[in-house]
Amino acid sequence: MTSKPPKTLKLLLRRLLAFLLHSTGFLRIYRRVRLRGRIPILTYHRVLWPDTTDPKPQPGMYVTPPTFESHMRFLARHHTVISLHQLAHALRSGTPLPHNTCVITFDDGWRDNLIHAVPILRTFNLPASIFVVPAYVTHSDWFWPDKVSWLLPRLRFPLNSHFLAKHPSLHQLQARNDRSQPAVDQFIDDMKLLAPDIRNELLTDLFRLADGQECPTERLLLTWAELRALADDGIVIGSHSHTHEILTLVSPVEATTEIHRSRDEIKRQLGTNSFSFSYPNGNVNDELKADVENAGYVCAVSTRFGLVGAHDDLFCLPRIPIHDDVTFTIPLFACRLAGLL
Ligand SMILES: [Zn+2]
Repeated sequence: MTSKPPKTLKLLLRRLLAFLLHSTGFLRIYRRVRLRGRIPILTYHRVLWPDTTDPKPQPGMYVTPPTFESHMRFLARHHTVISLHQLAHALRSGTPLPHNTCVITFDDGWRDNLIHAVPILRTFNLPASIFVVPAYVTHSDWFWPDKVSWLLPRLRFPLNSHFLAKHPSLHQLQARNDRSQPAVDQFIDDMKLLAPDIRNELLTDLFRLADGQECPTERLLLTWAELRALADDGIVIGSHSHTHEILTLVSPVEATTEIHRSRDEIKRQLGTNSFSFSYPNGNVNDELKADVENAGYVCAVSTRFGLVGAHDDLFCLPRIPIHDDVTFTIPLFACRLAGLL
């Protein structure tokens, strides 16, 4: 039996490999030969200092401001950054794009995008799209995974037996007695698989178990006024559904409503058409793709890992997720841009 290498050793090996691929010129050749005409659409979520926030964001959800600045400086120097709209138009018309083209997107519409990312984008004059969730922009509530991240470390064990009997996942949580970040992240991933009504019931019961404690009222997402200012400044605002429900887990009627209502609300609030759509959690099927197209969107992005090719489905474009733990050095970022590591 072989034991797994420790995380720090894996990270060290990954950094070393990225450094070698980058510094020897391998990446440059690989991009020219293997990736000719293929374009990375980068997915960012939050740009912030993770230790200054409670709850701390999941590792796959953020880059720090210095990491983001280093990424943008690198892109401005070595790449042609175009908007998602320009990419969709080029794919539709078959127009070839410059070598080393890429696209920048942000999911969810976090306020830290305005505070930390937009000033850096402006410095380097780079276009970007932000996919927003209109219901949350309006009522300023937290997404449920953030509530769970905040709540779980505050639960006192042993948990009430009535709730343990009702929710098997709470049983497992108590049995493991582990509320470290990886354990909380796993609990959230498991909750994502539940039907929305069962998940909401579990969430309500978690708050009951926390003796009525409530999440802080700090606003985490952008307001309509802020989004209006960003749109006026050239940031393209797209739809990320109306309530961020995973669309493959709700009924077809509800999914259609999510797709249409978010489009209408963005139009009503910003006065512009949202031409692009980002599937919540990346979950998509043929019916949803057709729904998005019928609703008048021009393209849609998924969380499928990869670079966009000339023949990719405009309503299920792959992307490259960018987060600090895998892109905190330029060689690591450059490898990621090439769809490696
Ligand atoms: Zn999202």
